[in-house]
Amino acid sequence: MNMLSNDNNHWLNFIGGEWRDSEDRIQVLDPATNQAFATIASATLADTEDAMRAARDCVKAGLLSRQRPSTRSELMYRIGQEIRNLVEQGAALASRENGKSVNDARSEFEEAARYFEYYAGIADKIEGKSIPLGEDYIDFTVYEPQGISVQIVPWNFPVSICARSLAPALAAGNAVIVKSPELSPLAITLLASACERAGLPKGALSVLAGPGRQIGAALVSHKETNQIVFTGSVPTGQAIMRSAAENAVPCVMELGGKSAAVVFADADLDQLVDSVRWGIFFNAGQVCSAMSRLLVQQDVYDEVVSRVAQLASSLSIGPGNENPDLTPVVSMQQRDTILTICHKALEDGARLVCGGTAVENLPGAFIQPTVFADVKPSMGLFRDEVFGPVIAITPFESEQEAYELANGTDYGLVAGVFTQDISLAMRASQALDAGQVFVNEWFAGGIETPFGGNRLSGYGREKGQEALYSYVRTKNVAIRVTR
Ligand code: NAD
Repeated sequence: MNMLSNDNNHWLNFIGGEWRDSEDRIQVLDPATNQAFATIASATLADTEDAMRAARDCVKAGLLSRQRPSTRSELMYRIGQEIRNLVEQGAALASRENGKSVNDARSEFEEAARYFEYYAGIADKIEGKSIPLGEDYIDFTVYEPQGISVQIVPWNFPVSICARSLAPALAAGNAVIVKSPELSPLAITLLASACERAGLPKGALSVLAGPGRQIGAALVSHKETNQIVFTGSVPTGQAIMRSAAENAVPCVMELGGKSAAVVFADADLDQLVDSVRWGIFFNAGQVCSAMSRLLVQQDVYDEVVSRVAQLASSLSIGPGNENPDLTPVVSMQQRDTILTICHKALEDGARLVCGGTAVENLPGAFIQPTVFADVKPSMGLFRDEVFGPVIAITPFESEQEAYELANGTDYGLVAGVFTQDISLAMRASQALDAGQVFVNEWFAGGIETPFGGNRLSGYGREKGQEALYSYVRTKNVAIRVTR
């Protein structure tokens, strides 16, 4: 068991229960300095075949699926415990490779452990139904694992997003092959190490680093893949869905968002500002369910713009190991993409209230917290995902106008409403076209509550008991009783 090779800070892939090197390497950069600090083996196509073979052998032998569910449940609890043992090491690593604060990275590992504990509690409760067909038949349903689940993970929360799909998949008895993100591939390997220490059978998990277009594409298009979970951008999701269609493979698609908070005039503005702080500046805005738009009723518009600007200007900025309010984005390239979007918004006539530039005295991928007001539906900033610490504020007059603005993008991931009026909150929750609606607190919910999108934000739901049903298929058994 050794996920590091003898070379200093060179990490390995986990394939069929073994740690394996490769001739090609991916350099991993610290976004706070833009300096490389580690490398990881870049998997080859032969590695993908070996991972597939190991997964198939595991499925065929029923190494997980034939275990008594209560035994699988105990295994899941052990994995959760092993992840908890790695929290400090993992937090430092995840912060360094991703830029996020050490505190947030610690929470990510704790959340990953919680996923395993939560699904451990369900592994022995995946119960079918008995369906009445009259006295000549006995009919029942059985939930069987899908088989081999290929899971493609993005860089923004690699550890918790990986655990979010891995835990229910294993709990249901599948074998899983994870393709880690190119920019943040290291901390995920600690999850593999936790699984190994906990005694997960060989082949039940492989974790491969490598280029998405080659290694990811080979895995999702593989004839033996039975299910795909993808979290990432819309264009990549669409490419994967096309490839999945060839083999009629079911997918869970967690794609992007351009989510709006609707602020009515009676909202508690202290509560709102606290939500804005987390909604758009947490993880430097690199959150698919970020509060990237704020729709504010005219009566309180100026006050909200000024309070959000005050908030943005008060945030501390620095590298993740200092636990500031705002950390760098994941790469210099991502920083430049975000700055280009800001320039375009200015050209389009949006009012820059604060930010919109890089942070001059810091060498890494830092961006000032950015607030744009008077953003119109015709502007790109209103419709397109930024994936950075940039909020777009738009005024509205009537309730109906607010819903039209909120629903006026191609996405439908999350939405929020801020009001003291419960009937208004209920009407908003019905009118907003999103997979989840937050009332008076952005990100309200937890690993217990289903999460996923509508329209271009994808389909299928992760988290909660509901997620489990993506990792099983239903078999109906109908028996004729002879007399
Ligand atoms: P991305 O689509 O570029 O990459 C995601 C993953 O897909 C990476 O591991 C990449 O290597 C892999 N990949 C790329 N091409 C592939 C292919 N042809 N076949 C298989 N795999 C391939 O996204 P990203 O830049 O890593 O992440 C940011 C995006 O992800 C944002 O748009 C964000 O909204 C979205 N996201 C969504 C959620 C959600 O839960 N809905 C969560 C996090 C991120």
